[in-house]
Amino acid sequence: MSGIERSIPVFYCEQLLANSQSFSPSAGKPRQVVANWQAAGLPISLPPFSPVTVEELSLSHDPGYVRGVLDATLPNGFGNELPEVAHSLPWTTGSMLAAAKEALLSGVACAPVSGFHHAHYDSGGGYCTFNGLTVTAAKLLAEGLAQRVMILDCDQHFGDGTEQIIEQLSLGRSVENVSFGRWFHEPAHASAYLARLREIVARLSDFDLVLYQAGADVHVDDPLGGVLTTEQMVLRDRIVFEAARRHAIPLAWNLTGGYQDPIERVLALHLNTMRACVGAYCDSAAVRRPLSPPRQTDVE
Ligand SMILES: [Zn+2]
Repeated sequence: MSGIERSIPVFYCEQLLANSQSFSPSAGKPRQVVANWQAAGLPISLPPFSPVTVEELSLSHDPGYVRGVLDATLPNGFGNELPEVAHSLPWTTGSMLAAAKEALLSGVACAPVSGFHHAHYDSGGGYCTFNGLTVTAAKLLAEGLAQRVMILDCDQHFGDGTEQIIEQLSLGRSVENVSFGRWFHEPAHASAYLARLREIVARLSDFDLVLYQAGADVHVDDPLGGVLTTEQMVLRDRIVFEAARRHAIPLAWNLTGGYQDPIERVLALHLNTMRACVGAYCDSAAVRRPLSPPRQTDVE
């Protein structure tokens, strides 16, 4: 869990990219996000990983739905049947599963992907096709690598698909869906949001693994947001990472939503999240300097 010159493993490859031809930038965002982290000089590494299989996806989805989407005969969560999107989907969930397995080994890892929590057992929507969160949890449970998984969903929106799958597959004893989009919706809720987050992370030691959705659409300026300012989002990320590190609970995180235009505003928020991660987990003096999040006027 420690070590000088440690880097944060980021499970990225070109295969998880796709042009979804939708309002959501999610399917093309990982390349820009990772390039931005590298340009900022953050200590990240890009280990190789594998896509998930049809069988793995079927651990938390109807097998007919899985095959139909992958064959591009059923609509994906973007509402189209583009083969390019279908081909990327086993890689996005593969990234999440790989990050979770790495976190179980070394403490923390990142899947620079989005588009999971609105995916239901046999349908997609809201830019989500397969629920990489529940697929990951189900796979680790099946392999005996974890007994209790917290899905800490700090995207702006309620993880309805996650909730439905947990119920349908009776995973409630093993998987807890803590979705802040259920409770908090506007800037007036910011203090209560951060207070609830502190309460939640105080229970982390009850879990073997945390899957943290570090959504950027919770920002007050997001067209589909928002609750937290830039500075409050930095605090959110610090609360989560520092608690996981302190309790030595493995944590894998992903990007999820973020719809500000231009996308540089979203990239700045994801950069802050990786800075907070590095600050919590890496011992280099260079990354222990206080964070100075960009003011809104600086990220245009
Ligand atoms: Zn969202």
